Amino acid sequence: MTFKDLGLAEPILKALETEGYTHPTPIQSQAIPILLKGKDLLGVAQTGTGKTAAFGIPILHHLFLAKNQQERRRSIKALVVTPTRELAIQIGESFTAYGRHTGLRNTVIFGGVKQGKQVNTLKNGVDILIATPGRLLDLMNQGFISLQDIEYAVLDEADQMLDMGFIHDIKKIIAKLPPKRQSLFFSATMPKTIVELSRKILGDFEQVTI
Ligand code: AMP
Repeated sequence: MTFKDLGLAEPILKALETEGYTHPTPIQSQAIPILLKGKDLLGVAQTGTGKTAAFGIPILHHLFLAKNQQERRRSIKALVVTPTRELAIQIGESFTAYGRHTGLRNTVIFGGVKQGKQVNTLKNGVDILIATPGRLLDLMNQGFISLQDIEYAVLDEADQMLDMGFIHDIKKIIAKLPPKRQSLFFSATMPKTIVELSRKILGDFEQVTI
């Protein structure tokens, strides 16, 4: 199977070619068709499997097609929550690479630095937000971020977020998501608390285990 066979929009295929990606990894060939159908996804997979592209590519594909159908206001339509600053930066770089020909904008926010620059970027408008939980909630509480237009919500490395004590923050974030959305939940392991958390965010879902 190739990326072309998956029916992806031309600007995304072009970017993947630039990246030198010829064939989807197993999680990509399994998850991308599920996500293109609009279904929720439970992905049991670790970093290094290509899971960032597995969720990033379908999100960019959908947002690109919707943007071309109608001139849409720039607002946050996809949210990725991930435990660490390093992961957030990597995910942001991936969205930038795969989305370079789509005209969509992403930004990354995380704690431990002053919020001014992050707030300014948000004020200029972004389509995709990648965030660590604490800074996300903080900026939401200050009124700099609204989740009302979210169409795609991704919880990445859920087990690590639990280990880092983010469970309450995550629940507060989930509570603010609009009910009509596509939800994606990734975790390397599935202990009971994570299964319960996945049930809170996912609707009718399909599972991919790598
Ligand atoms: P991830 O699991 O998302 O952190 O990705 C692991 C690494 O694999 C990253 O460096 C990606 O750039 C790379 N990668 C992801 N998908 C592909 C692919 N289909 N072909 C080649 N490399 C890939």
